[in-house]
Amino acid sequence: MESPQTSGTINLRRLYIKQLLDAGEKEIYSEETLDLFLTLEQFREKIENCQQCPLGKVRTKFVFGCGNPHAKLMLIGEAPGRDEDLQGIPFVGRAGHLLDKILKSVNFTREEVYIANILKCRPPENRDPEPEEVQQCFPYLSKQIEMIKPQIICCLGRIAAQFLLGAKSTLGRLRENDYQYDDVRVFVTYHPAALLRSEQYKRPTWEDMKRLRRYYLKINNLPEEKFG
Ligand code: SF4
Repeated sequence: MESPQTSGTINLRRLYIKQLLDAGEKEIYSEETLDLFLTLEQFREKIENCQQCPLGKVRTKFVFGCGNPHAKLMLIGEAPGRDEDLQGIPFVGRAGHLLDKILKSVNFTREEVYIANILKCRPPENRDPEPEEVQQCFPYLSKQIEMIKPQIICCLGRIAAQFLLGAKSTLGRLRENDYQYDDVRVFVTYHPAALLRSEQYKRPTWEDMKRLRRYYLKINNLPEEKFG
């Protein structure tokens, strides 16, 4: 049962968001979306003190995920980095700014998508997640996917793709195909941090995102668009 404290917090958030809506500042949150936002917030409050794996002891902030609760596109990265660990928000810092640009290049905005990671706490020195950590943490992401019900998931980088799809192939191989996660179509592309390290990944990422956008337009019966 919901504790009085949690219920009070949720009510305050509801009031706050309603004020934003009244002020016309968050038109993206319809009443229905607001309800789902609050359900996600309740879930976040339930798990934000998680200590299920050793990363709980070394994190600065828990990074739940953010974005439109009714997003048709959900982006999944690997794990929080330094900036994300400090701010508690996924994809901030240089990689986050680049992600915004990548989205914009195919006519998505950050406000209309939802962004999360395979892990919710930062591995020390940004090392790869351990399988045991993912095993502990993945049910949280799975629950978020179940609540948000996106039409499309885009895995950003090898780690996200391998863990979500239970695959072992290289990223180069993984991005050659599309997949299903339950009923959701999954695309795979490079992590923005890889593009910051090497320009050679820009062109293939652009191609992947155009393909994803065309699929999105098709399943939503939207007109074709021209890119760049
Ligand atoms: S990484 Fe996930 S499982 Fe591990 S402590 Fe953080 S929230 Fe819990």
